[in-house]
Amino acid sequence: MYYDSHIHSTYSADGLSTLGDYTAAVDSGRISGIGFAEHLDMMPECGSYGWLDGWLDPMAYMAEVKALKDKGYEFYAGCEIDYNKKAQQDVLDHLEKFQYDFTICSIHMIDGCSISDREYIPAIHDIDKLKYLIRRYYEEFRHSLEVDAFDVIGHVGVFKRYLGDAYYKRESLLRLVKEAEYEIARLSAKSGKIIEVNTSGLYSPHGETLPGKAFLELYHSFGGRNVCAGSDAHSCEDAGRGMKEAHKLLKETGFRYIMPPWDRENPVKL
Ligand SMILES: [Zn+2]
Ligand SMILES: [Zn+2]
Repeated sequence: MYYDSHIHSTYSADGLSTLGDYTAAVDSGRISGIGFAEHLDMMPECGSYGWLDGWLDPMAYMAEVKALKDKGYEFYAGCEIDYNKKAQQDVLDHLEKFQYDFTICSIHMIDGCSISDREYIPAIHDIDKLKYLIRRYYEEFRHSLEVDAFDVIGHVGVFKRYLGDAYYKRESLLRLVKEAEYEIARLSAKSGKIIEVNTSGLYSPHGETLPGKAFLELYHSFGGRNVCAGSDAHSCEDAGRGMKEAHKLLKETGFRYIMPPWDRENPVKL
């Protein structure tokens, strides 16, 4: 039974398939249910800025998800918030107005620089700049853990997605990340938030889920038990991609349940 809790439809600026298109992924038996995580971007430098909060109507989005739910599909209307402390109040104001089924807090931009796309981070050869961005990433991460309105922590360590070999060859960078992740895993476990295992990393130069085994082991060792899995699909063909691998990894790491972000009362056995 696979629930994919991180999928984008055309309610996101970069989504390619409509909500209706995704019924095919359920009809085919590939996945049991979907948590849609449309981008909610409050900063002008973000790709979906003004999209869900501007000319697209969140009420229309939620109504369309509900109509499919009424037809028997286990669909949930969530959003993926592009977090930065400077935009926090705007995000909270929006979440006050619109009650999504769940929220994912993700960090994509640091001081106007994208740390999650395929162009920017691999092009940085200045190790000090890279380290600065990574330190800032974990700093924003710590702030986000204090925000009650966020249910899920999206793709921990997303800056690794396109770093590939450049990352593993740099000892001092690995050390910095290792130390930061230790602290973040501890605080994440304490926060009670759900850690998302984002499978997009498996299909990127990183070749591992985000977060990977090392972080999940730490999180588990600190008593963290709330995990879910998401493909970060932007088109129907990718829905459910990597779910099997993510479940296997979670089981091997000692987790027994998936926590659906929209229904924490009913964990699903792995
Ligand atoms: Zn994201
Ligand atoms: Zn996403």
